[in-house]
Amino acid sequence: RADEIVRADGPDPLFTVRLDGGATLRTRRVLVATGVRDGLPDLPGLRERWGKDVLHCPYCHGYEVRDRPLGVLATGPMAVHQALLVRQWSPDVAMFPHDQEFSPGDRERLVAGGITLVEGPAKRIAADERGIRGVELADGRVVERAALFVQSDLVPLDGLLTGLGCARENGLVRTDAMGRTSVPGVSAAGNVVQPFGQVIMAAAQGSAAAMALNADLVEEDVRRAVDRERTTARNAAEFGAAVEALVAATVLGDRGHGL
Ligand SMILES: Cc1cc2nc3c(=O)[nH]c(=O)nc-3n(C[C@H](O)[C@H](O)[C@H](O)COP(=O)(O)OP(=O)(O)OC[C@H]3O[C@@H](n4cnc5c(N)ncnc54)[C@H](O)[C@@H]3O)c2cc1C
Repeated sequence: RADEIVRADGPDPLFTVRLDGGATLRTRRVLVATGVRDGLPDLPGLRERWGKDVLHCPYCHGYEVRDRPLGVLATGPMAVHQALLVRQWSPDVAMFPHDQEFSPGDRERLVAGGITLVEGPAKRIAADERGIRGVELADGRVVERAALFVQSDLVPLDGLLTGLGCARENGLVRTDAMGRTSVPGVSAAGNVVQPFGQVIMAAAQGSAAAMALNADLVEEDVRRAVDRERTTARNAAEFGAAVEALVAATVLGDRGHGL
């Protein structure tokens, strides 16, 4: 696990990566793909079911729970939109407004969309060894559900990038189409710079970034090779008879034997 990345001073990028065990790595380029932390609603029992039958993404999980009794727990402004997406997967969707206030217009949209509103704050997720049973409300009712959708906060784990001084834009580290950040030699890919992206997008960004880094390293190697060639040629051009006589006199003194 990388704790810190430090850029060395110098014309070409060079980095030291400090790992949590104390080891360090030296590298000429860095590609950060540290993803996000999922901030979950603070409801007893919810965290334990996360990724199993407490879900967030209808595109990822909708098919797996299709046609079953589904719930949407509202904890943020995207809840109504999320419920309408979830509704595509099941005729039985219950919306728990919980601690959110819906406008009359949103209520109308939910009802027109065939979604049942279940009023009252949620108290905890009811579950047993087989999985979620439903949502227990503060008044003691348990509304049985096979899966519950929630809005998770996607918090980019971009400390390594910001520690290197990478510029941010709209709350995210800025990258170009090839994953390059504002710091030469530092690239980023995946959820750390695009929190709402899916696996296929993260993989594509990683691939693009890797190609750009490889091309960059090839160019750097060739530039260094050209510099070496030029230095060698310049030295060869400058090393003639006069220089050789001077070297011989300096090294051998009066033992020069006429050299
Ligand atoms: C419950 C759930 C279900 C999902 N289902 C789907 C799905 O069905 N289909 C789909 O396309 N997408 C799905 N997604 C989204 C998908 O997981 C992400 O889009 C994808 O994993 C992003 O890939 P990534 O490489 O950017 O980040 P991640 O896959 O999150 O990988 C980041 C890695 O970096 C590591 N890391 C973090 N900090 C450090 C550090 N300092 N040093 C070293 N390593 C570090 C992390 O431990 C992690 O292993 C789901 C997400 C969740 C939460």
